[in-house]
Amino acid sequence: MHEKCGVVGIALEDRDAARPLYYSLYALQHRGQESAGIVTHDGFQQHSHVEMGLVGDAFDPGDLQSLNGSNGIGHVRYPTAGSVNACCAQPFSVSFKSGSLGLSHNGNLVNADEIGDELAELGHAFTSDGDTEVIAHDLARNLLEEDLVRAVKRTMERIHGSYSLTIMHDETVLGVRDPQGNRPLCIGELDDGYVLTSESAAIDTLDGELIRDVRPGELVVLHDDGTGYDTYQLIEQENTAHCFFEHVYFARPDSTIDESLVYEVRRELGRKLWEESGVESDVVLPVPDSGRAFASGYAEAAQDDGSDIEFAEGLMKNRYVGRTFIMPTQDERERAVRLKLNPIKSTIEGKSVTIIDDSIVRGTTSNQLVQLLKDAGAEEVNVRIGAPPIIAPCYMGIDMASRDELIAGDQSVDEIRDEIEADTLSYLSIDAIAETLETSKADLCLGCVTGEYPYDIEGEATDRDVDRPHISGQPRPADD
Ligand code: AMP
Repeated sequence: MHEKCGVVGIALEDRDAARPLYYSLYALQHRGQESAGIVTHDGFQQHSHVEMGLVGDAFDPGDLQSLNGSNGIGHVRYPTAGSVNACCAQPFSVSFKSGSLGLSHNGNLVNADEIGDELAELGHAFTSDGDTEVIAHDLARNLLEEDLVRAVKRTMERIHGSYSLTIMHDETVLGVRDPQGNRPLCIGELDDGYVLTSESAAIDTLDGELIRDVRPGELVVLHDDGTGYDTYQLIEQENTAHCFFEHVYFARPDSTIDESLVYEVRRELGRKLWEESGVESDVVLPVPDSGRAFASGYAEAAQDDGSDIEFAEGLMKNRYVGRTFIMPTQDERERAVRLKLNPIKSTIEGKSVTIIDDSIVRGTTSNQLVQLLKDAGAEEVNVRIGAPPIIAPCYMGIDMASRDELIAGDQSVDEIRDEIEADTLSYLSIDAIAETLETSKADLCLGCVTGEYPYDIEGEATDRDVDRPHISGQPRPADD
């Protein structure tokens, strides 16, 4: 299961949290369109509303009104290809002897099955096959024996993989980021409270201020009365494994992630793309919307170098077509690219063009686009990509396609160029990504572009000294 999602948690002084949570989910909608949900706590009991669909469709005013309480968490869930999976919509909420729990998870555990099996043997009944429920049960069990902070620490020592979580234990809202900080999570201040969320754009939407990123391995506990927060560095690890693809594709350009403004990162990656593999042409066209910032950086660097290259919008996007990527069949994906993008003939006809996109996954988009531009009269089509070739699947929460669907899985750049029928094709180097993010490669998760992962995943190579925790199967007292 691949869960690439958006999470939020809010504690306010004396205003209901439901509306700010709802607005935050709107700001995070790009991180998941399959389902949306909010769980609040009014000091006595939990209130929950979770539904399939986009945020705007999942809640009506009555739903928001019934979500009482000044503390709560929210979630938007990313669709898994073709399937509609109501069982895994979040936040996951449940009541145990140790209190009520709500969980919103962004990421993917690699040892959820081991922990789930152990807990099932101890009498825990699961309602889904999702890893979020495993975390909830593990935490509930630990809460029987430990205080909140120690219980979270114990769970963190058992789960292995990527996770940014917002959790509600009774009315207390907390945020946790995995020890390698794979998925983003940040903390912000509002006039009357605090917010934990996947992306700072959600804090901006609430007119709040970004305080900082939650540190890898850190737990942040918001005060129930919305007046402050406490933090605990529960696990320290030498290296981080931040997902570079958040910066390249997934996050909003107006978000700041791990201290970098995503828009500026993409523009700089575009500049580097020109430095590494710039090609003279009449016009540079972004593939909307994902290639925009890359193309503007690329064109600017070209012009700084004295090139006459023109930056233009040559492809119009129909906003009402959903993501082509999630269409279940290849036929539908190809049709959807054509529905989504239409060329503006005057900027293309008789010209040599360079199109810039952030990434190539299966190759459907570039294949269709090259054809489209040639049909519109382009004399030459160069393709430049702001990420390295994606050669291996993502196990850490980005739904990317399986290994044999990846166009770069077993083909060289020249072979891919021939397959998409481009005149030239170049990708950005891994070094350029690390340089732009001002970090070492050892602090990034580069699994999808190197095939070596920063987690201990069965059947895959690792790029560092990591071991999944040993799950002992030691019986402890049954909880529920
Ligand atoms: P493809 O057409 O399969 O080569 O996919 C590449 C296109 O999908 C690019 O335009 C990307 O911006 C976009 N893309 C890349 N990764 C993802 C993802 N994980 N989910 C949805 N779209 C993506």
